[in-house]
Amino acid sequence: MSYRSSIDLHCHSTASDGELEPEALIDLAHRRGIKTLALTDHDSIAGIASAKAQARQYNLQLISGVEISVSWEKQVVHILALGFETDNLILQQGLNAQQQGRRERGKRMGLKLEQFGIEKAYQRTCEYAGGDLLSRTHFAHLLVECGYASNTRQVFKNFLIRGKPGYVSNSWADLSSVLGWIKAAGGVAVIAHPARYRLTRTKLRRLFAEFKDLGGGGLEVVSGSHSRDEILQMAHFSQHHGFYATAGSDYHGPKHTWLELGAIPPLPPHCRPLYNEAGDRLFTHSQAT
Ligand code: AMP
Ligand code: MN
Ligand code: MN
Ligand code: MN
Repeated sequence: MSYRSSIDLHCHSTASDGELEPEALIDLAHRRGIKTLALTDHDSIAGIASAKAQARQYNLQLISGVEISVSWEKQVVHILALGFETDNLILQQGLNAQQQGRRERGKRMGLKLEQFGIEKAYQRTCEYAGGDLLSRTHFAHLLVECGYASNTRQVFKNFLIRGKPGYVSNSWADLSSVLGWIKAAGGVAVIAHPARYRLTRTKLRRLFAEFKDLGGGGLEVVSGSHSRDEILQMAHFSQHHGFYATAGSDYHGPKHTWLELGAIPPLPPHCRPLYNEAGDRLFTHSQAT
């Protein structure tokens, strides 16, 4: 069954590892009947201005967003920031540091892949990525192009995850710093695709408690990478821990096998949506203490 939602709070453009330029992403959102969209590129807000300008033409509400990589208990956890002021210097400085970390990780990945026999891996990946933001997805595309695998999923499995020849670990910002940046910019923090980390119940509970203490506001209950059961489980956790709930496709572009933009089921009943049907945000920081 294919769903159509008028609100999608998680997607990517060419400002990170998505395939569509921000304007083209907005055109698609409009064609798909989306009224409220958050552009949430990895560690970058570079696509928001042009997305916002394009959204204005359609009367589509574009919510500022970014998906920030966080190191938490030896795991990488993704935190979505939504509805912040894009000109906030604290957030911008934090994201710049993340981007620098990505470039340094990229150089180390490039060296490993060059040792593996892939010539000029770093340089070619930078050319492919085009902008400032380097993601493992960009390396995956290079490896597919070089014939090491038939699709990016296969590349991740054989090269880019822990223990494989192209993998290097990286130290991302910690949870407390990231929530500080988001709060400084007036945004709300949401744990992205919480079921994807495969955490034990105990660890998940610890993550939720810590996140809540630091002023975190929401859980991404509906995600393109959640199964039906995981959606119900996360809906339960969001109620239990007093979090708002969000829904996002995590759309990356037409070539990805992920979900279509906006093709997400509704939030289960009893969830408290972070944005209502009219696109108003219901979380304020005064509630979070
Ligand atoms: P990075 O943040 O640079 O480490 O890259 C993470 C990104 O790689 C994710 O946001 C996904 O877009 C992509 N990714 C992670 N795992 C896979 C996978 N198994 N198959 C395809 N893409 C993946
Ligand atoms: Mn991605
Ligand atoms: Mn993610
Ligand atoms: Mn994402």
